[in-house]
Amino acid sequence: MSHTHKGGPLKTHPEMEEIAALVESWKAPEVLRWALDRFHPRLAFASSFGAEDVVVIDLLSRIRRDARIVTLDTGRLHEETYDVIERVRRRYGVTIEVHVPEREAVERLSRDRGLYSFRDSIEARKECCRIRKVEPLRRALHGLEAWMTGLRRTQGVTRVGVPKIECDAAFGLIKVNPIADWSEVQVWDYIREHDVPYNALHDRAFPSIGCSPCTRAVQPGEDPRAGRWWWEQPDQKECGLHATQVETGRTPAEATREHALAAPVPPARG
Ligand code: SF4
Repeated sequence: MSHTHKGGPLKTHPEMEEIAALVESWKAPEVLRWALDRFHPRLAFASSFGAEDVVVIDLLSRIRRDARIVTLDTGRLHEETYDVIERVRRRYGVTIEVHVPEREAVERLSRDRGLYSFRDSIEARKECCRIRKVEPLRRALHGLEAWMTGLRRTQGVTRVGVPKIECDAAFGLIKVNPIADWSEVQVWDYIREHDVPYNALHDRAFPSIGCSPCTRAVQPGEDPRAGRWWWEQPDQKECGLHATQVETGRTPAEATREHALAAPVPPARG
């Protein structure tokens, strides 16, 4: 996949190289304002409506309510996730673009491998994620210049090197991670201070929420992502949506160093 942007390779685009170094020192609202000014409407926030994502939506809604928000209905989500999606929609008056998997691919998967194929092997799990998540996200991001996420560096071993802006090799887009340097405490302080709607599962020891059959509650002291695909090793716990640093076989730190857009990671704030 070529990583072009405005007619030139993304890695060498002068404006982006310059801005990437600055972005690391900006606070989340500044990052969002810059991204919206620069890319809207060819920019979307991909949200799974976890705690980080509702914070980003609250921040976005303070800048412009027509900021694009996309989400994936994998067909295996918790009822609580649909509930928070609807509460967010009503609270902020935003439009949420819901993308579903290809019907034929899901039917084929269920027919050939059953309804719980993701338990059989890592390959089978990734196949399910590819059909239910990666392909719909690819469609959701088609035609965009940039996308945004609520990724944070302290969410797990696969995310320690997340920069605030990067070249997403998997999708060939700019990827903006405005709260990459936030702590979990910051996220929850923000939610309480601004009375942001959040997924009720967070109150039942689900710090990270994905599909219902692939997410469980965590024990006190466990890694926040321990409840995701809990039968797999920690360094394999990504679904392909954030594949830049995972499926290449490089560690997050290696991948980040290799990105021309990635600036040095500052110490976590607050
Ligand atoms: Fe399939 Fe589980 Fe991935 Fe959801 S999280 S797409 S159910 S493997």
